[in-house]
Amino acid sequence: MNTRSSQDCPCCGTVAELFFDGGQLPVNSTTLMRSRPAALAEPRGRLRLCVCPGCGFLFNSAFDPARIRMDTDLEETQGFSPTFVRFHEALAADLVRRHRLRGRRIVEIGCGKGEFLALLARMAMGSGHGFDPAFVPGRAGPGQDRIRVEPILFGSAEADRVRGDLFVCKMTLEHIQYPPDFLDLIGRAARASGNAPLVLMVPETLVILDRLQVWDLYYEHCSNFTPGSLARLFRAHGLAPTVLRTAFDGHYLIIEAMPDAAGAITALDLPEEKPQQVVDAARRFGDAARLRLDGWRDRMERWGQAGRKVVLWGSGSRATALANMVGLDDRVQAVVDINPHRRGSYVAGTGHPVVGPADLAEIRPDVVVVMNPVYRDEIAALLRQQGLSPVLEAV
Ligand SMILES: [Zn+2]
Repeated sequence: MNTRSSQDCPCCGTVAELFFDGGQLPVNSTTLMRSRPAALAEPRGRLRLCVCPGCGFLFNSAFDPARIRMDTDLEETQGFSPTFVRFHEALAADLVRRHRLRGRRIVEIGCGKGEFLALLARMAMGSGHGFDPAFVPGRAGPGQDRIRVEPILFGSAEADRVRGDLFVCKMTLEHIQYPPDFLDLIGRAARASGNAPLVLMVPETLVILDRLQVWDLYYEHCSNFTPGSLARLFRAHGLAPTVLRTAFDGHYLIIEAMPDAAGAITALDLPEEKPQQVVDAARRFGDAARLRLDGWRDRMERWGQAGRKVVLWGSGSRATALANMVGLDDRVQAVVDINPHRRGSYVAGTGHPVVGPADLAEIRPDVVVVMNPVYRDEIAALLRQQGLSPVLEAV
């Protein structure tokens, strides 16, 4: 039984401050909704974001892990975008080179469909051992013959039995309600593997707050980190950070650490902000977020009144958040995604249909709202190929 009160920080126990109430949002924003009724019936949970003045950690105090489904319908991959694939390849090549992974064993916790693990194993000419309940065999791409994935969560038994030369955990820690417990598990496995390095990647929340990216906050992202709060948590659990940096236009925060601090380089690339800086940023965000959402509501209203056809591009969590927080209804015709596995599905909570780029020839949108500006050029090129020239608006 959890005895912590809802506003105590899960990382350090300090009483935290509520700064943003995002209302009721779908609890599983990346799960594929196979029908419109199922999408509309998706359970909702409250996004109640708190910031900790003790360590700078941000968390959803209304989060209930029992409501999250972890199954193969989770469609989180971004591997269909050339921009994302280039990012992944550069990240893998850098890790293989710096950690001298040639012929080595790589462990990835929360490996999704296994694409990154297969890429690492292939580049290293080594092997990969992955863990993910949402794993689907056969979708890891080149190098998948070098990996073995167990479709389970990484728990205490796994920490005791799994050994590797590098432990990777990308886009997973933000889904864990009590990050310290999870970090202890990975740290234990890395320590037992002979001081193997760890690499973790999470969304960079200070950037989300500063850029007012309201749609990057989700119910299921119960744990949100900034550079300082992540580095502090690692140190508090006996893990010495050796690399702290952002990537992908500031969206991702990457930390590398060693279980044994001896010899670890402690001069990091990224400044570690103080907890009070996060509190200040969170308060500013809380004040401005509502205005930002109202601005999008007004814009959609104006486009609707002018009879303009609007589509969103990108059907992941961001589109789900925007559609639900703004309440888009029939002001948006459809949501476009280049991932063919998402086509024919529906946006959780609002029921907008997910279509492929080829379907736009028929819809002929006047406005395309780009959910991630990083993909703007890629999207513009795809639209040009189809002879379409809608207005592109990035969120
Ligand atoms: Zn804290």
